[in-house]
Amino acid sequence: MHYLDYAATTPVPRAVAETMAEALTEGFGNPSSQYSLGRQARDRLERDRRVIAGALGCKPEQLFFTSCGTEGDNWAIRAALHQNRRVGRHIVTTAVEHSAVLQCLKALEREGYSVTYLKPDGQGRIAASQVAEALREDTALVSVMLVNNETGARFPVEEIAALLHDRPALLHTDAVQAFLKVPFTAASLGADYITLSAHKIGGPKGVGALFAGGRAKVPQPLLYGGGQEAGTRPGTEATAQVAGFARAVQLRLERREEIDAHIRDLNGYARERLAAIPDLRFIGAGDAPHILSVSLSGYPSQNIVSDLDAKGIFISAGSACHRGRASHVLTAMGLDKRTAAGTVRISFGPETTREDVDALAEALEEHRRVRFPML
Ligand code: PLP
Repeated sequence: MHYLDYAATTPVPRAVAETMAEALTEGFGNPSSQYSLGRQARDRLERDRRVIAGALGCKPEQLFFTSCGTEGDNWAIRAALHQNRRVGRHIVTTAVEHSAVLQCLKALEREGYSVTYLKPDGQGRIAASQVAEALREDTALVSVMLVNNETGARFPVEEIAALLHDRPALLHTDAVQAFLKVPFTAASLGADYITLSAHKIGGPKGVGALFAGGRAKVPQPLLYGGGQEAGTRPGTEATAQVAGFARAVQLRLERREEIDAHIRDLNGYARERLAAIPDLRFIGAGDAPHILSVSLSGYPSQNIVSDLDAKGIFISAGSACHRGRASHVLTAMGLDKRTAAGTVRISFGPETTREDVDALAEALEEHRRVRFPML
């Protein structure tokens, strides 16, 4: 098997699974219970919070656990709009956000909010000046992701934060594809809300975290129930998921430099190997080393993905969330139809090897040789 779709999800290292198993079978107490088993689960949860907060460079009390990155995005957006409800009902975002942000904003448009969608350039990049131009008196929220999940483009969140310094608009950034992959801390970004998800860094699916700091107040809940997460997110804490998240963060931190160097090396190697394939084009700025977007112009990406699948090579047609629909990211970048249709996303992780890249390059080359391009 050659798994090259780490931006979709990642394998869970055995050490993470073992930590989770222990949390499920031994430290299974409810963190709200008053006896020692409950207190141990509470201590464990708070220790895990400190680990993840440490990696993000924030205070533990600024980090709230969620069920996924999608929840974090929705929560941040709704919480910011609630906090800034007297500022207005205008939102600035980009046309290339993850659907967790875009679909939430579409729902808000139906509720009467107005949204400005900034278009990226041909490299998939957004400039802070575009945000500056879009700001209005009634702008309550700016939501701009840190790393794009399809192209790996990194957006200038720090500059946008500086722009908003003397403005009421709050700043949210979806850092799901960036956390522990590109260097940043909560302080270096200056965003008020930051969304994280565990399953992109070797943690389990179904758990994430939302940072609310800077000018953000304790976030208004999305759900109502018990008093968990400082009364902001009811529901018994997913202690095993959180334990897995924290263990994955720890493992990554322990080998951070080595993993970063390995992924940069793979990126360079893949570029070299793939550049030799006739008609292959690299798409986007390619800022984040773990994501490589390429197009075999005219060769439908669905066919590429299924041909490679038959050889045990797993890559994605654009983003895993599209399931065959034209990518809104590539469309917003203004790619011509043939190039957009032939675009696939390759993404690396700590376990990826040069042999995986070799298998990919050979399979893409063969696909181009034996298949016909569309007209
Ligand atoms: N934001 C981005 C940029 C993503 O890539 C993803 C997952 O693909 C999400 C949000 C959603 O995260 P989750 O799968 O944890 O809901």
